[in-house]
Amino acid sequence: MIRNTREGVMKMKNLHFIVFPLTVIGALNWGLIGLFNYNLVSSLLGSLPGLEKLVYILVGVSAAVLVATHKNDCKVCGKM
Ligand SMILES: [Zn+2]
Repeated sequence: MIRNTREGVMKMKNLHFIVFPLTVIGALNWGLIGLFNYNLVSSLLGSLPGLEKLVYILVGVSAAVLVATHKNDCKVCGKM
C-alpha cells in the first residue's frame, strides 16, 4: 500500500494538511450558523457563488477523505 513507503507517508501528510483544516473550517462554519446564524464562508465568498460552492464541495470531499483515512491516522481509533 502507498502509505508504507516514505514517499507515500509524505503524500498522506500533505493530503492530511489539506483535508483536515478544510473539514475544521466546515465544522466551525456550521457552528457559527447554529450559534449566531452567521455563515462565515458565505460572508467571505458570497459575492463569488461559484467559489463559495467550491468550498462547500471541498469541505464535503475532505470529510469523506478523513472518514476513509482516519482509522489509520488516529492513535485512539487505531487501537480499536
Ligand atoms: Zn479516531
